[in-house]
This record gives sequence, structure tokens and C-alpha cells, in this order.
Amino acid sequence: MIRLCVVCGKEITAKFRKSYCSDICRFKAPFMPKKKRKRKRKETLCWSCDNACTGCSWSKALVPVKGWDATPIRIKYNSDVREYTDSYIVHDCPQFIPTKR
Ligand code: SF4
Ligand SMILES: [Zn+2]
Repeated sequence: MIRLCVVCGKEITAKFRKSYCSDICRFKAPFMPKKKRKRKRKETLCWSCDNACTGCSWSKALVPVKGWDATPIRIKYNSDVREYTDSYIVHDCPQFIPTKR
């Protein structure tokens, strides 16, 4: 995996360095604005995807789509007997096709 300096954006080549390419950047860092964390969605992307009706491996056979970004969750599907099933909230998916509205 390529690591990029959080200050100047250059590739970090030294193995022992994690976030900065050099000491110069490390010392500059406290004055940098903190990177905003990307908010993860609460609802799965599939609800707005045209592949949601058996168009992809996930909607067809519950096989995770290769390369997607998804958080595993447990869904209660029978509130009476507390039965759960494993599912995912999909954040990003290579097979995503936006639904036309
Ligand atoms: S977002 Fe991805 S996993 Fe979800 S329905 Fe679309 S193609 Fe399938
Ligand atoms: Zn740097």
C-alpha cells in the first residue's frame, strides 16, 4: 500500500514513517487543519441502486460484491423471537447503478 504524506501529499518512502514524508512535514503538521472524516452512511447504497433486484451477486445470492466498501451489521428480522440475520450497509460499490427517477 502506498502511504501519502498528510502534509504535502508526497509518497512516503521510509518504512518507519507512517503519516509524514519527512521531519519537516512532521513539524508542520500541528498547524494543518484536521482532515474531516467522511461520514459513513446509515442506509445501504442498495436502496438507490438499479442492481438491487437480483442484478448483482449480493442481491441475487447474498454474496458480497468484490471491491465494495461495506459495514457488516446484524438485522433483526423477527422481533418476537429475536432472530437476527447478518447483512451489510454498503457505502460504496463498483457495481452500483443509480436508479433513474
Ligand atoms: S449497491 Fe452494489 S451490492 Fe448494492 S444492489 Fe447495487 S450493485 Fe448490488
Ligand atoms: Zn511531506
